[in-house]
Order: sequence, then structure tokens, then C-alpha cells
Amino acid sequence: MSGKWFPLDKDELAGLAEKYPTPFYLYDEKSIRENVRRFIGAFKDFPSFKEYFAVKACPNPYILKILASEGCGADCSSMPELVLAQRAGITGEDVIFSSNETPENEYVYANLMNAILNLDDISHIDFLEKAIGGIPDLVCFRYNPGPLKEGNAIIGKPEEAKYGLTREQIFEAYAEVKKRGATRFGLHTMVASNELDPDYFIETAVMLFELAAELKKKLGINFEFIDLGGGIGIPYKPDQKAVDYSYIAKGIREAYDRIIVPNGLDPLRLCFECGRPITGPYGWLVTKAIHTKHIYRDYIGVDASMADLMRPGMYGAYHEVTVSGKETAPRDHVYDVVGSLCENCDKFAIQRNLPEIEIGDFVIIHDAGAHGRAMGFNYNAKLRAGELLLREDNTIMEIRRKETINDYFATIDFSGLDGFKV
Ligand SMILES: *Cc1c(COP(=O)(O)O)cnc(C)c1O
Repeated sequence: MSGKWFPLDKDELAGLAEKYPTPFYLYDEKSIRENVRRFIGAFKDFPSFKEYFAVKACPNPYILKILASEGCGADCSSMPELVLAQRAGITGEDVIFSSNETPENEYVYANLMNAILNLDDISHIDFLEKAIGGIPDLVCFRYNPGPLKEGNAIIGKPEEAKYGLTREQIFEAYAEVKKRGATRFGLHTMVASNELDPDYFIETAVMLFELAAELKKKLGINFEFIDLGGGIGIPYKPDQKAVDYSYIAKGIREAYDRIIVPNGLDPLRLCFECGRPITGPYGWLVTKAIHTKHIYRDYIGVDASMADLMRPGMYGAYHEVTVSGKETAPRDHVYDVVGSLCENCDKFAIQRNLPEIEIGDFVIIHDAGAHGRAMGFNYNAKLRAGELLLREDNTIMEIRRKETINDYFATIDFSGLDGFKV
């Protein structure tokens, strides 16, 4: 038996699928709310705390509005993400624009929204000044610690990452924006993704706290906030353990007392830009088995594809799979669960032990609530699944419809074909 949970039983799912044919995403409002309350609540011992939900993880305005009602802001990195945040009622300094390789018009838009601008490079000081005609009061820079971070288990080698400013540049950058009139400062980093080790985030906080103290000493500037970015992982595999938010909060608070307070930086706001742990475990891709195929391996063909959920095909990422109504049945069959893309990596599960699957069974792909529908694409002219929301009163609401063939053709003007001489 898998330890993973799904909110509807087989009959409820069958009824739902009559109204909304599979495949679809389903999100559970109650679990999203309970989890985000737990997350924010864990940091109650800080003078102030803010979670800016990373819009890219689940760019649906209904989800954003739920999160906003729980006190979340939004972390955006493109114009449409800024617009989505705005449409969900998140604006001003509740938005942080943590973009990179940012086009000029997006800086202009973010600045008009009074969003916090988080610059990814020292050259963006001039670029921004030219784009918006000055330097904003409040400026944040993204720090890339590079190879300086010795002796701990930082994954994803910051020195190979395209993001952020070097240690040397960060001193220069704050001095420069101070000279050009900035009066309020934030400091940001994000150096991990899907990290399950809670100590990692405490170490990252220590690194930023020490840097902020040094910047204060050398440049005489005070910091308003420290933003640790996203990167908190979720237990995709049944044997993995969820990150303990309270453990992270306690460790960071100890570092705060040891570094921030004696350096005169208290009160300082602590921020995260988490996406994955906020909605990931509370969204599912619901598909139906439409074919069984027995060649050198046994295959279950489902009506969703990698175009709906890219992570398994793209990164070989593990997503738990369960079969509705067969949650407790013995997992005595071995299948590859596959989609219809003309790509052999279009597999949701490879050589996975599952109960016997029959055509018509609902196959549920778990932990798809972040970086799921959002990473969908249209290769092979596949039309992406829609999104449903299970409300707290147990009603179900469609929050994004399934794509239609006309959506796919919306960018092509077929009328030009008649006069198109070849
Ligand atoms: C992707 C991203 C996040 C969110 O990452 P998660 O792994 O979903 O928590 C936050 N901040 C920035 C700058 C990002 O690029």
C-alpha cells in the first residue's frame, strides 16, 4: 500500500469524470490552507515573516487568491506572472520580482505595481535606472555564493549557476545603489531545489545573516529583509520524510539571535519564496487507463501525457502512482505507465509495482500540485489538462478549463493560407 492520500473515492471520482472528462488536475483547498498556515505559523517567533508564493509553481489566480487570504505574497519572474498576482489581488510590496535576464518593459511594469525589485546582476543597476528613470527606494540583490561556501552540503554548485552576483560584486552593488539614492535594502539568495535536508536552509540563513552584518559594517546600510528563496523539497517517494518547518524556523531563529541581534540588524523580516511545498502535495493529475499493452514489458497507456506533467520524462522524477479503488490491493504487477507522446521518455512510472490495472481504471499521479500543469507544453499538438479545485465545502469548481483545438490554433491565421502562393 502507498502512504499517499487522495481526497475522493472511486465513485466520487467516476461522478466527477462524467462532468469533467479525464485527464484533469485536482487541488485540495483545505489541505493547501492547513499546510500554508503551518508553514507561516512555524516562523511566528520572528519579528515579521513573509512567504512570497512562487507563482511559476502553480500559476492559477484562484490558487493565488487562496494563498493571499492566508497572508502570502507572490514571487514573480515575468510580466504574465505579475499580472496574475495583480488579478489575484496581490500587489505593491507583497510582490517580489525575482527575475533574471529581465526585459526592460517587465521592470517598468513591476515598478508601476510598486513590487520589490530583486536584481540578478550588477549590470542591472544601470539597466534598471535607464528603464524606469531612477533607482527605487527599496532594492534587493540576489547573491550567488559561488565556491566560497566550503565544508557543507550545498547541492547544485552555485558557481555553475547563472543566477546572482558574486561576493565581490554584492559589496559594490549595494554601495552603488546607495550612492544613487536607495534607502531601503533586501538581500536574497536561492541555491537549492527540492532539498529535503532542513539543515541546508539553516546554513543558508547563517550565510546571508553574516553577509548582511558585514555589508552593514562596511557600507553603513541597514537591511529590511532577508529572502531565502524557495527550494524546500517534498517527499515524492513514499520512504522520504517531509521537511519539518519548525526545525528550520528554530535553527534560523538561533542564528538570528547569534548574528542579527548583536549586529544591530534586529528587527529584520525573514522571507521565503517557496512554491513546491506550498501546493505540490495537494494537487493530483487524474488520468484514466485507456490501453494495456504487453510486449517486452507490460504497459498501461493513460489519457494524460508528458505534455500535462513533464517532470518524470524531463528529470526522471519520481511521482507516486495509485489506482482509485485499489489503494489496498497487492502491488503484484510491474508496469510502465505511459502517455501518448511520440517520445519514449513519456512515462509517468517505469517498472513500477502496482495493483493489476484494467482499462477504465482511474490512475492518480500524486504530488503534481507544483511545477505540474505549469510546466505543461503543446508538443505533438497535445492539449493540456484543465484544473479543478475541491473547495472546503466539498464542492468542485473548474478553475481552468481543458485546452481545446482552437486554443492550439489561436496563434495561427489560417485565412492567410488561401493567398499563400507556393
Ligand atoms: C523556482 C523559484 C522559486 C520556487 O522554488 P520551489 O522549488 O518551487 O520552492 C523561488 N524563487 C525563485 C527565484 C525561483 O526561481
